[in-house]
Amino acid sequence: MITNNKVVTFHYQVNEPGKEVIENSREFGPVVYLHGHKGMLIGLEEALVGKRAGDHFSITLPPDKAYGVRREAENLRVSLKHVIGYDKKTKIVAGMPVQINTPQGPREVTVVKVGLKTLDVDTNHPLAGKTLNFDLEVVDVRDATEEEIAHGHVHGDGGHHH
Ligand code: ZN
Repeated sequence: MITNNKVVTFHYQVNEPGKEVIENSREFGPVVYLHGHKGMLIGLEEALVGKRAGDHFSITLPPDKAYGVRREAENLRVSLKHVIGYDKKTKIVAGMPVQINTPQGPREVTVVKVGLKTLDVDTNHPLAGKTLNFDLEVVDVRDATEEEIAHGHVHGDGGHHH
């Protein structure tokens, strides 16, 4: 059963109510996380408490339980050299999601305006401000190791390798 300090593996599919699927983990592999260590969307952790391997269910999360509310004035001007995977052949247009390098690590942002050597981007998560349906299937639940609990993250398959 899912409680704090369990390592949880699950599949998910996410969409806005009445719209098509945005992401389906069956296309790239299940999500693995350590429960109770803030490594997962708060609304998903709350919904997964007490569930077991094999449980399959759907929930609807408001933005504040998912990717947060959209913040205005979150636009940022970044140099093209900070865009991950960018080369001169890359055609970047407004509205496109791109990943940029930040001091806190890679971050997914949305292009607002394209300049000669810079981009204006919106740093809100692309799914911020959206109410989302999640279809969840718990694949596996196991006890975390002492080391995983100390580190606050999962080791091995789907987790950290160090
Ligand atoms: Zn570790």
